[in-house]
Amino acid sequence: MSALWTAACQTPWAKAQPQVLNAALSFNIDPVAWKTLRNSAAGFGYQVVQRQSDLLVSAPLEQYSQNRKGRIYRCTISGENCLNIQFREPEFAINMSFGLTMKSDPGTQNAVACGPTIPKDCKSITMYSGVCFQINRSNRFERPIPPSVKECLLQADIAFLLDGSGSVYSEDFQTMKTFVKNLVRSFLSSDTKFSVSQFSTSSKVHYYFDNFFSSGSWESNIDRIKQLDQATYTAEAIEHVVQNVFTPQRGSRSNAKKVLIVITDGESHDSHRLPYVARLAESKKIVRFAIGVGNAFNKPAAEQELKTIASSPSDKHIFQVRDFNALEIIRQNLQDNIFSIEGSQTSGESLKMEMSQEGFSAVYVPEGIQMSIVGANQWKGGYMQYTTGGQKVTPWQLLNPGVAQ
Ligand SMILES: [Mg+2]
Repeated sequence: MSALWTAACQTPWAKAQPQVLNAALSFNIDPVAWKTLRNSAAGFGYQVVQRQSDLLVSAPLEQYSQNRKGRIYRCTISGENCLNIQFREPEFAINMSFGLTMKSDPGTQNAVACGPTIPKDCKSITMYSGVCFQINRSNRFERPIPPSVKECLLQADIAFLLDGSGSVYSEDFQTMKTFVKNLVRSFLSSDTKFSVSQFSTSSKVHYYFDNFFSSGSWESNIDRIKQLDQATYTAEAIEHVVQNVFTPQRGSRSNAKKVLIVITDGESHDSHRLPYVARLAESKKIVRFAIGVGNAFNKPAAEQELKTIASSPSDKHIFQVRDFNALEIIRQNLQDNIFSIEGSQTSGESLKMEMSQEGFSAVYVPEGIQMSIVGANQWKGGYMQYTTGGQKVTPWQLLNPGVAQ
């Protein structure tokens, strides 16, 4: 760095006042060897990496097909042509804005390029993920880091409470069990635990969260549940589940969304206690869905029971069962509503990686590659570290809130 002095204007006034020479910090620039690189690709030049004999230049806004965005060009120093480096992106790398981040490793002449804007439609919200690729000195793209984008995350503990009282027709009880099996099946790929209970005069927990999948074939286990066929103590059963099923000792997780699905005809013997147990469930942040079977919607008192049991608003938490097709519609609605609950949660510890985008920036470190994860840990941010081969070195690290990197 050298001091550059500027000359004063040669005006009559300046002659009379010969001074005004301020020091400015600057650096030496070779004024002769400029070279201009041009390309019509959108965003061309957003990131530039210099290697020994050429340059890598990114154009992250280049939309070259319906769902592909961002290209990397190799520009030779001798010529003025820049050629797109061809590579086959993984299927999941949709509109990733490739080249929004690019960094080089001077020691190996490798570079890492990232695309952090891969959208994924998760019902009520769109989640974004990112991916990076190392480009070796021969312009070969190595495997994606991370190897896949995150799935729509749903971490929920779902407890079913089936009305096994004598007022429920046996075919309706079978339909309930089919409903449970279909709903469980549709959540198998997510991080969801289940519990199944039945109630009549007394309540009976068939499976807790910690043994639903570990007690043999879960589908056969549900098939084997026999209707108790006695009186209807719905409030007592809800209280039992709230107090004895949604507990850490039985596998309920503090971070997971808690969901109780009560399937009943709505004619209980202890309806006066329903407001109390509903408040009790509410205090434990248990979201309640009420599914009406049989005469649940033919009698005003029965319908009122469903409203008391269910979380508000009623129209999103009460469903009617008439036939198998209706169950399918409910299953889909439940799936949407449960994710919407999960995605909108703004407190607690649930939002760690769900809203994070990997690769907004990246840097080489001795252990490999470090990628920032914007939006992680409830938008505080963090970073992930991988080997250059794509192995995760550390789990996400929390940065101090407000520290930008
Ligand atoms: Mg009954």
